[in-house]
Amino acid sequence: MRKKTKKIYVGNIAIGGNSPVTIQSMTNTPTQDAKKTVEQILQLENEGCELVRVAVSNQFDLAAIKTIKKNIHIPLIVDIQYDHKLAIESIKAGADCLRINPGNIGDDECVKKIVKTAKEYHISMRIGSNSGSLSKKFLEKYQKVCSDAIVESAIEQIHLLESMEYYEMKLSLKSSSVPMTMECYEKISKLCDYPLHLGITEAGPGIDGIIKSSIGIGGLLSQGIGDTIRVSLTDAPIEEVKVGKKILKSLDLYHSGINLISCPTCSRTKIDLIEIVNKAYSKLEKIDASLTIAIMGCPVNGPGEAREADYGIAGENGKGIIFKKGHIIRRVDEDKLLDGLLEEIEKGL
Ligand code: SF4
Repeated sequence: MRKKTKKIYVGNIAIGGNSPVTIQSMTNTPTQDAKKTVEQILQLENEGCELVRVAVSNQFDLAAIKTIKKNIHIPLIVDIQYDHKLAIESIKAGADCLRINPGNIGDDECVKKIVKTAKEYHISMRIGSNSGSLSKKFLEKYQKVCSDAIVESAIEQIHLLESMEYYEMKLSLKSSSVPMTMECYEKISKLCDYPLHLGITEAGPGIDGIIKSSIGIGGLLSQGIGDTIRVSLTDAPIEEVKVGKKILKSLDLYHSGINLISCPTCSRTKIDLIEIVNKAYSKLEKIDASLTIAIMGCPVNGPGEAREADYGIAGENGKGIIFKKGHIIRRVDEDKLLDGLLEEIEKGL
């Protein structure tokens, strides 16, 4: 059961309340190179990214915001550190949401000016704390980076914005440690109802980053915590979106694309299941439909899974049965199994 949070909007996308969990990413092109940044955002959109963040660090980046905004189709979040004037100008240039850290943006007067403009333009903001940039005050109080310090820092930021009668915020509490991140979100989730942006920061490259993100983000989502996710990988942003989709799909929170079920193989497997699944995987990835496909190695669990799926294969000795919507469609030799399955899927699209 998902925790019901306050609903806010980033552009036309709702975050929190009963809204679906959204996937976001961040560009890694120089923001001031509007052409390259737009190209990357369009690729991200194509992969299923629903919100995108760009960093604005100077006047050149700021100057690109209008062009970027005009040429993309998903809401644009602008990430600002240190300079409240850039934040204000980014809102005026068309940002749908700001990501700021009230602790480093200047004094309360600077925050007040940002909030005033955000209210005027009806835009939301992401605030929150990160283990890597905790203020001296909390480091001294807790003598170390810990979940209580990160949570208290976030609460202080919430109170500051609430004191300015601003409530359109979502929160992130990030750490590169999976257990600490999970603790932070579990604690803040009990303390307030603002929507939560989940992520394991600096999760690293490849399989390490994917596993940390899957456990951290997936573990929280499975407790009903979290409204929008960003997988942080040392990789192309498009990979973050692919992993984000798979995390949501694993938890039945994403209902588009192929859900592939396949067995791990064992001594009962009498067809080259690994090769069939690998080939199927690359072909099925390109199909834009919401389908469950089961590819199983033998008659023990195979027919059950294949019958439950939209389409399925249950292998036998050198051959196999193709199922469609619970019914046996064909019994063919091993070398015809994949083509047969793909033909049936194609017919049904
Ligand atoms: S489905 Fe059959 S072949 Fe595959 S792992 Fe299970 S018992 Fe082994």
